[in-house]
Amino acid sequence: MDIYESLCDITGSDYVSRQQEEQYIYSRDSGAQPPRRVDFVVMPGSVEEVQRILILANREGISVTPLGGGFTLSALVVPQKGGIVMDMKRMDRILEVNEISRYALIEAGVSQAALRSYLKKHHPRLQHSTPEAPPTVTVTGNALIQGHGHLTPRYGLNSDMVNGMEVVLATGEICKLGSAAVTGSWYTRGPIPDLPGLFIGWFGTTGVVTKLSLKLYPRPQYRNVVVFSSDDVDAIPEVIFELTQLDLLEDFFLITQEKPDWMNHIFYVVILSAHFKEELAMKKRIYREVAGKIGGGKTVKPVDDLHPALRTRFLDVPPKAAVAADFRKGGGFQYSAAILPFNKVPAAWRKGIEIAHAHGMIASYVHQVLTCHSIMFGFNYSFNRADEADIQAARQAVDESNRFTLDIGGMIWKGEAEAQRLVMKKMDPNTARLIEKIKRAMDPKGVMNPGNWELPQ
Ligand SMILES: Cc1cc2nc3c(=O)[nH]c(=O)nc-3n(C[C@H](O)[C@H](O)[C@H](O)COP(=O)(O)OP(=O)(O)OC[C@H]3O[C@@H](n4cnc5c(N)ncnc54)[C@H](O)[C@@H]3O)c2cc1C
Repeated sequence: MDIYESLCDITGSDYVSRQQEEQYIYSRDSGAQPPRRVDFVVMPGSVEEVQRILILANREGISVTPLGGGFTLSALVVPQKGGIVMDMKRMDRILEVNEISRYALIEAGVSQAALRSYLKKHHPRLQHSTPEAPPTVTVTGNALIQGHGHLTPRYGLNSDMVNGMEVVLATGEICKLGSAAVTGSWYTRGPIPDLPGLFIGWFGTTGVVTKLSLKLYPRPQYRNVVVFSSDDVDAIPEVIFELTQLDLLEDFFLITQEKPDWMNHIFYVVILSAHFKEELAMKKRIYREVAGKIGGGKTVKPVDDLHPALRTRFLDVPPKAAVAADFRKGGGFQYSAAILPFNKVPAAWRKGIEIAHAHGMIASYVHQVLTCHSIMFGFNYSFNRADEADIQAARQAVDESNRFTLDIGGMIWKGEAEAQRLVMKKMDPNTARLIEKIKRAMDPKGVMNPGNWELPQ
């Protein structure tokens, strides 16, 4: 049997495609990266089907690229060496919600919106940390790329919220990772060697995650937003430090945009939540008081006349902070995402404006404070998808931002293939070789999303 027929034999022909239309869609994403070849698209419906596809791929030496929502914007799910795209969206069951131990066990294709609405309906006292990504993106894809959501400033990265996983190794073995491996129950990740780490941040190069156990958190009844504005770029590290020092906020992001003029300031957006009205009022009062003292009372000002439409956007879960992006005709958008320590933000702020202007764009930023240790600094670039020169300019701007990030000692988050090459080149050689050894041990034939995290030639 050829590959197509073998795939049809595994999933049924309704869930396999080598049609041009599907190949076209899966050969690109919404970012600025160029399209690449896709040979087959397959949608498995069970862990056994995933297993059979990986055994087939291993036997035939054909590449497999796992795909969740496909929305990283850095083409991580567009195969670099052709082969099979394994779209996980059919595996979309929420298998268990343990209310008392606060975790959800879900299949890999469950979307952010599906989990959020399920919890709202059946477990209204619990929530998960939701990224500000399109609602169709998967909870698993987000956790696997070390994403962040509206609870990240309080509880950590979404990958830190993983309790365990069911995975299929490239060679076909099915494993449970975390407490389920020992007890059958999915309530904790340790205390055994941290195997989920072999799948987090690896961009699908070590195997396919089929189930995820995710921590859930209390869902407070009341929420509010306080916003401060400032024009002092050099004071950003101190303001972030002081506002996170309080340890009372739920979410915290910085936005700015050069146009319209009223947006051309630094806005610190602090989302507060509470179980009691008095608690919320107290938190709001404390934030205003503390912010008012920063820099002897001169650094930030409270924004008392926040437009109601903005208030609603900010208080949405997830917040619609991307109000600050300079969306253009043609709808293209990609950001270079730097993970920076706070003291590097002023330099990045200035450089981002310089890069945007050099490419004829309006500078716009959304930066989420991740934990009280680092920030996701998004260099945002929009472009007209119908204009090749505009796409090239965005690609170039992303590349310049990535290089700058590494130059100042930052990390590139979910970088496209070229960005990964820059990271691997800069990495301690022994660490880069360790990554290579682990990949080879887990995927001896090199079929899993090849081209990612490869040693520089
Ligand atoms: C407007 C906008 C706003 C955004 N805001 C945020 C934000 O606030 N926070 C944030 O974290 N992100 C954000 N993102 C980035 C991205 O959309 C999200 O991180 C998203 O959750 C990624 O999930 P996905 O399902 O699209 O992953 P995919 O793109 O499908 O996959 C990501 C990577 O994981 C691998 N993978 C996926 N599923 C599996 C699996 N089952 N097994 C093994 N490997 C797998 C893929 O091969 C790929 O390498 C935003 C994007 C946009 C467009």
